[in-house]
Amino acid sequence: MASISFRGLAKHFGEVVAVQDFTLDVPDGELLVLVGPSGCGKTTTLRMLAGLEAPTAGEIWLGETEIARLPARERNIAMVFQNYALYPHMSVAENVGFALRLAGVKRDEVARRVMTAAEMMGIGGLLERRPRELSGGQRQRVAVCRAIVRDPQAFLFDEPLSNLDAKLRMSARAEIRRLQQRLGVTTVYVTHDQVEAMTLADRMVVMHDGCIQQVGSPLDIYARPANTFVAGFIGSPPLNLLPVSVSGMLRLPQLLPSLGSEVATIGIRPESISLRASDLRRPLHFSAQLELVEALGAESLLHLRLGEWPLLARVPGTVTVSAGDELTLAMDGSSLCFFGHDGKLIDDSDTMPTHPSEPKP
Ligand code: ATP
Repeated sequence: MASISFRGLAKHFGEVVAVQDFTLDVPDGELLVLVGPSGCGKTTTLRMLAGLEAPTAGEIWLGETEIARLPARERNIAMVFQNYALYPHMSVAENVGFALRLAGVKRDEVARRVMTAAEMMGIGGLLERRPRELSGGQRQRVAVCRAIVRDPQAFLFDEPLSNLDAKLRMSARAEIRRLQQRLGVTTVYVTHDQVEAMTLADRMVVMHDGCIQQVGSPLDIYARPANTFVAGFIGSPPLNLLPVSVSGMLRLPQLLPSLGSEVATIGIRPESISLRASDLRRPLHFSAQLELVEALGAESLLHLRLGEWPLLARVPGTVTVSAGDELTLAMDGSSLCFFGHDGKLIDDSDTMPTHPSEPKP
């Protein structure tokens, strides 16, 4: 096991800048998730770490060794690919033991380590099968098994769950988390799915256009998104982002003077809007038109309109409202976020009163 450090890592494909100025330390044993929309540079970063892509610039340290220019086979790193990359003509046991045999490990030792890893992944009974005789979930376990059998210094996962159905994805996600905690191996995991990122990560790196936008624990990033890109990407559904011109309709003017003309965008969490002001610590009242109700069972999504702006609220599934209603709503003033003209979060912790009617301490 080892820590990983990226120093000014960059990758250009001709004119395309896939990754730039990627600098980050991953402590030993951490599960770090790289998350962002398609094309933001996640896979390229992971492939540079695995040795499958040569960086244009920068360094990668694995423990005390700079590995950016070492061939993949000389890095003690195991990667699980999106398509699992199993050899179709080999049995499960041969697939899992392949890298060990290549490394010259003796036959008995290979068999013993394959069996131990297979039992850990619950595929001990499948060792003689070929990949085509396995379900998608079983193939995914074989791919993970092939990574752990090598006892690597780091695990890399590139969207390993994207070929599984939603239910299986949830259980496989929990299994990967448990396994990583049990083995304590430093892990870098790539996904475009922010729910997967939030549930798996010790820390997340949100990427956009090849650049790191924010690094932090899932809850920190959720509570304090660094900019409007992160705010619009994280959360399910994500933050409502509204121009400051709606502040009158939201009856916010009392809040805004302390932030002055800096504010360009107001962020409102869908779950901080309620039909019952008594549920909220710091209620601010406003009216909006209900256009659509999406009933999801335990909760409902209310598609509202505030003047010309759409607004999404997440409320308990028990509320009874109908499309077309003009609703009086309340929202929690203490959960609002404000963003400046440059899109960055305005750190309001020093300037904002906790409530519009409360004096600043
Ligand atoms: P996805 O979630 O779709 O896999 P990603 O965030 O992993 O996306 P990358 O695959 O790292 O993104 O790609 C980053 C950028 O680099 C994209 O603009 C992509 O088109 C470009 N790119 C990646 N590989 C190559 C290549 N071999 N040649 C040219 N451009 C490439």
